[in-house]
Amino acid sequence: ILSVSDLEKSYGDIHVLKGVSLDVKKGEVISIIGPSGTGKSTLLRCLNFLEEPSGGTIDFDGEKYCTLESHSRKRMYDKKLIKLRSKIGMVFQQFNLWPHMTVLQNVIEGPMKIKGMSKEQATKIAKDMLDLVKMGEKANQYPNKLSGGQQQRVAIARALAMEPEIMLFDEVTSALDPQLVGEVLDVMTSLAKQGMTMLAVTHEMRFAEKVGTRVIFMDKGKILSEGSPDEFFHNNKNDRVQEFLSSVR
Ligand code: ATP
Ligand code: MG
Repeated sequence: ILSVSDLEKSYGDIHVLKGVSLDVKKGEVISIIGPSGTGKSTLLRCLNFLEEPSGGTIDFDGEKYCTLESHSRKRMYDKKLIKLRSKIGMVFQQFNLWPHMTVLQNVIEGPMKIKGMSKEQATKIAKDMLDLVKMGEKANQYPNKLSGGQQQRVAIARALAMEPEIMLFDEVTSALDPQLVGEVLDVMTSLAKQGMTMLAVTHEMRFAEKVGTRVIFMDKGKILSEGSPDEFFHNNKNDRVQEFLSSVR
């Protein structure tokens, strides 16, 4: 469903992604782990062009996205990019809910504004997604009345309401109090069980091991090691990975 080839990203002189290639099949749940500053967030952000890659190509859902000549950039921003973004959902460490809107309004905004759905249609999907993340009863609350875990579940529902083909998660539990992490991981686990294709940058090794179908280790802008959770955690011969794993477990 997604194929990334030789992706490069520099910020000025800082070369962050140094040729990342990655194939994602439908239904895969990929955990991306690795030391701080190695480009994990940058990789996710490049996948839906929140950052523009400096080089390489991204194939998604039968379309090719590559680094563009500046003259063709604007056209792509108009059409293809909107399509890409509406099919790739993303959830961040900070929930970024709109504070002046209720939970329900937060979730229907995208389907209405970007996909052009009617309010009735959007509300129906939003309610289903809020039920899925067990937030149906809070639909009319404002975000500041919710715990961090609840806000994050709403952020997940908001992304799901766009009916994405892939969900990207960037350390979505890192800003939460420890007792709230579980409820968000439970939602991610049930999504994974329902067959959602997922890429998750995470520090939750248990999630990576028990729920993920593949683990990718990034270091200094490259993929250094990857494999099934079993191979990765129990039979990894890479010294850098071993060192990292012993530092986080
Ligand atoms: P962490 O685990 O701490 O979240 P990460 O693996 O997600 O780290 P990135 O956030 O992708 O790392 O950052 C990789 C490098 O790119 C870092 O050196 C960072 O300082 C740099 N960087 C990220 N965003 C920008 C930006 N907008 N402008 C300049 N440099 C940036
Ligand atoms: Mg990051």
